[in-house]
Amino acid sequence: MKICVIGTGYVGLVAGAGFADMGNDVTCCDIDGEKIAALKRGQVPIYEPGLDKLIAHNAQEGRLAFTTELGAAVAGAQVVVLAVGTPPAPDGSADLSYILQAAQTAACALSGWAVLVTKSTVPVGTGDRIEAIVRQHTRHEFAVASNPEFLKEGDAVNDFMKPDRVIIGTSDPRALQTLQALYTPFTRSSDRILVMDRRSAELTKYAANAMLATRISFMNELAVLCDAVGADIELVRKGLGSDARIGAKFLYAGAGFGGSCFPKDLRAVLNTAKQAGTRLEVLAAVEAVNQRQKHLLAERLLKHFGGDLHGRKIAVWGLAFKPGTDDVREAPALVLIEDLLAAGASVAATDPVAISATRKIVGERVQYHASNYQCATGADALALVTEWHDYRRPNFERLHDIMRTPVVVDGRNVWEPAVLRAAGFTYYGIGRGRGAE
Ligand code: NAD
Repeated sequence: MKICVIGTGYVGLVAGAGFADMGNDVTCCDIDGEKIAALKRGQVPIYEPGLDKLIAHNAQEGRLAFTTELGAAVAGAQVVVLAVGTPPAPDGSADLSYILQAAQTAACALSGWAVLVTKSTVPVGTGDRIEAIVRQHTRHEFAVASNPEFLKEGDAVNDFMKPDRVIIGTSDPRALQTLQALYTPFTRSSDRILVMDRRSAELTKYAANAMLATRISFMNELAVLCDAVGADIELVRKGLGSDARIGAKFLYAGAGFGGSCFPKDLRAVLNTAKQAGTRLEVLAAVEAVNQRQKHLLAERLLKHFGGDLHGRKIAVWGLAFKPGTDDVREAPALVLIEDLLAAGASVAATDPVAISATRKIVGERVQYHASNYQCATGADALALVTEWHDYRRPNFERLHDIMRTPVVVDGRNVWEPAVLRAAGFTYYGIGRGRGAE
């Protein structure tokens, strides 16, 4: 099958390489010339485990190509995948300018029937808008389907190649047949293709992210209660998650959720509800709890140091919004850094892969270190924000020796309070009972 993927970000690149790996002929397009030039040289512009190998293999086999020439890539394709960004607009709604522009350009280049597949996360009804735009700009027959993507950064290749489910939102028989043929190789062991109307498919993506975000904010709220009443959220989590009706995933209290999806998708679905004349009370609370949570680490440090961080050096371990990615969009570490700088602290930061992405946002206002021990040297306190493997079992004796004062704020509850306290640290966790002392 000939496929054109528009947008070579986390979703488009993984999808393009994944489709090519199943034997399809895929061309990935982007308006970012530098990205495409890098991909043509064999360089992958994002960090995503396994993606470089998948791209190299399929490019070598001649099934995967990269271009800025959208027209040529669309012509002759049966499937045109829209995987461009839908970032938040100032009012919280999803900014659809990129996807509507991409749809228009693709429409102008259609050379015969094709299905335009919306993989980007878009508000309910966007498929109708895309359909109207394409109709204005082509004389060919076409279909527009929704096919939301559920991959998670850090494990995106596995998620794409072995999806829990594939949602196809269309009522067009030819589009359905084409997309079933495209996805059947990914779901061979059991039938995990769910077919529904386009609006329900669009909403399912927001529902999934909103549910996951709700679990996190729920635990963060309980963690505040744990601190207030002297209970340990980690024990509560285990007790709660072992209930088969609840399950153990996404029950970790921490420094709040970030990333390119949860925060923006929450705001977008809240906005959709507002436009539809209704209000999502639970999700409004999920968002408010998360905003508050992102300031918690800085608040702990400020309280510890008597409300003033001038002359204090704070080390920050972990900048990416979660381990396994270099994505820092809406990362809790960025909020912490701004709070610390505003309180007069000097900040040293480290991350295995996200320093360059952070530098683009924060600039040289913090010192960056490749080594986590160098980062902590001379620090008055250390905040762990992203639970990369390297940070889970550090040499605490060494850490104690190199820090100016042994104060740690464990924003992911990966360290044992008793172990840290026995090693001479002042330990603050999230909802660990004595965390608020
Ligand atoms: P991204 O910002 O990493 O990449 C988007 C790409 O689209 C950029 O390279 C940009 O240059 C390109 N682009 C913009 N307009 C274009 C145009 N007119 N023609 C060609 N290229 C264009 O975005 P992403 O993280 O891959 O997310 C893409 C969509 O998928 C979003 O709607 C997002 O919400 C959704 N999504 C993301 C994830 C994730 O984990 N990142 C998971 C599921 C769904």
